[in-house]
Amino acid sequence: MRTFRADQILHSLYRDWIDDWDMATTLPKDFRERLKEEIPFTSAKLLDVARSDDGTEKLLVGFADGEAVETVLIPATGRFTQCISTQVGCAMGCAFCASGSQGVVRSLSADEIVAQYMLGRKRGEITNIVVMGMGEPFANYDETMRALKLINAGKGPNLGARHITLSTCGVVPGFAKLAAEGIQFELSVSLHAPNDALRSELMPVNRRWPIDELLHACAEYTKATKRIITFEYTVIRGVNDSRACAEELAAQVRRVPMAKVNLIPLSPVSHRQDFKTPDEKTMLMFLDVLMKKGVQTMLRRSRGKDKDAACGQLRIRRMKERRSI
Ligand code: SAH
Repeated sequence: MRTFRADQILHSLYRDWIDDWDMATTLPKDFRERLKEEIPFTSAKLLDVARSDDGTEKLLVGFADGEAVETVLIPATGRFTQCISTQVGCAMGCAFCASGSQGVVRSLSADEIVAQYMLGRKRGEITNIVVMGMGEPFANYDETMRALKLINAGKGPNLGARHITLSTCGVVPGFAKLAAEGIQFELSVSLHAPNDALRSELMPVNRRWPIDELLHACAEYTKATKRIITFEYTVIRGVNDSRACAEELAAQVRRVPMAKVNLIPLSPVSHRQDFKTPDEKTMLMFLDVLMKKGVQTMLRRSRGKDKDAACGQLRIRRMKERRSI
């Protein structure tokens, strides 16, 4: 294909945001007909939008086989972040996570991942992407990477690599692979517990790759890439919120050069009523211990609380509704 045709196609897709080849009016009609036949648009469809009072929008995106995932649009001052999914469900089975409560159905293809971005992009100029929706990106590494590279491509949407954050629960082989890509994506690691006994209880993935192995991979990653790693720590009342946990966490995190911590209060999930959100005082105590030990720490707030805030909840509700029809 001649390059100018390729450029025209990319322009139609990622500047005009077309979702039908007939909208690509810069292309000759017979050429559009050929495209329709040879490269049909993905059948991704917007099934539902849940809007929160804080402006967060949760979109339910359906695919050809009837499966669906969530993607969330989060406005903030000077930012418009989209949280995208990489799998339908999740195999990792973290105790506090709605996405993992029913196992994995399948991984998404790169075009199904990009389709979420395209649908989000129609609702506003996305400035940041976080791969923190349903699924484990390192368990669907190749398709996730294809999608993110496309979104990052200069002739595509051209979203800067530093504006794209991958989040993993600690699938260790993914770290070296990502480091070898030589792309400056941001990396977050879901830690949630400072020792193996507690982490294995909350996150079954820890039995396969315990904390020592995980932190070693993190340290290698920061050394190889000179990039920061952000540890995510979801605080659950009475489970991982003690002063002793905070002190142990500080010591673990300091084993990784260039690491910081995000503290997030748990979003309640329906399948674990016993897991409760910590109070503000506990969050501040936890923050204080980490800061005093020299760990760079941020307090995060969960958004979209009034609309099935925790990951995967909208999809679960919809699937239940469908089943009961
Ligand atoms: N599988 C990846 C990305 C998806 S989860 C990962 O584990 O990192 C994105 C983030 O949301 C993770 O840090 C996850 O632990 C967190 N999370 C999941 N359920 C949560 C809940 N109920 N409350 C707060 N954070 C939660």
